[in-house]
Amino acid sequence: MTEAWRPGDDDERSRRGARASVKVRVPAKINLRLAVGPLRPDGYHEINTVYHAIALYDELTARRADTLILTMDGEGTGELALDDSNLVLRAARALAAHARVPAHARLHLRKQIPLAGGLAGGSADAAAALVACDELWGIGLSRDELAGLAAGLGSDVPFLLHGGTALGTGRGEAVSPVLARPTTWHWVVAVADGGLSTPQVYAELDRLRAVGAAPAPVGPADDLLAALRQRDPHVLAGALGNDLQPAAVSLRPALTRVLETGVAAGALAGLVSGSGPTCVFLAADGADAQTVADALTDAGVCRTVHLVHGAVAGARLV
Ligand code: ATP
Repeated sequence: MTEAWRPGDDDERSRRGARASVKVRVPAKINLRLAVGPLRPDGYHEINTVYHAIALYDELTARRADTLILTMDGEGTGELALDDSNLVLRAARALAAHARVPAHARLHLRKQIPLAGGLAGGSADAAAALVACDELWGIGLSRDELAGLAAGLGSDVPFLLHGGTALGTGRGEAVSPVLARPTTWHWVVAVADGGLSTPQVYAELDRLRAVGAAPAPVGPADDLLAALRQRDPHVLAGALGNDLQPAAVSLRPALTRVLETGVAAGALAGLVSGSGPTCVFLAADGADAQTVADALTDAGVCRTVHLVHGAVAGARLV
């Protein structure tokens, strides 16, 4: 049976089908609260987190081609494999298989998000690839369908489609938006030299807990959600927390000095982002953020410093 034609269908198809090139911008994430529960039988830890998308972006350009190819520039160039292990290509292939279209595209990744930094750059790139290829190939999946594919690619990928500030449960893939009036928060991001492997950081947390050397878990995020609603950075600062921080610091003791330097320079709080080693600092305003960034640079305790705001949208066409 032929589907009925509806006014606008042809326009919609030609608009979608006509794209020769699309560009998607995707943010990094930090975790305002990351509570890590016990190890599950499937090898993942149950987590309860509040994700927050910050204005530090990767950009993915997708062009029509008759093969699938990925190139890149920026952070991680020469280090990050551009073969089928790359999350960009895994996402493109997953979408093509789902939609039964050939996985043909020339993709270029411009990376600002550091590798293995605890900012979910790989997951961000997967989210960008889903949005870009969906548009390039004229598929038109709904946000829910894209989120389903995203969850199969990695725990943080659904959030990177979504953006903003959101609660993540399960292994982080179940995302629900945090209801708070939009607020601009000022962050300083201190990027370390070299990354930390996420599985190693979780394993270190398990080890610290087994020997009774881990601090009390940060617990559910109720006070953090209340703090977001108050829209006061001093209140939010007191509610930030990350169970992975002691593990990241145990593997990389130099992070203590980074955290101390930022707080001594006037940050309201400093914490390790996700599995680290990136540290993030909450500032009262843009001027204080600049002071903190300058102090971190002058002390030479990190490789790069970014001044950013949050929350921002997830993977979007630009
Ligand atoms: P997470 O906190 O989500 O575990 P992270 O921010 O610590 O991640 P990522 O930069 O996301 O670290 O990458 C972790 C690993 O994923 C990298 O070391 C790399 O081997 C792999 N990877 C695959 N594709 C990508 C990509 N496009 N960008 C970054 N890493 C990728």
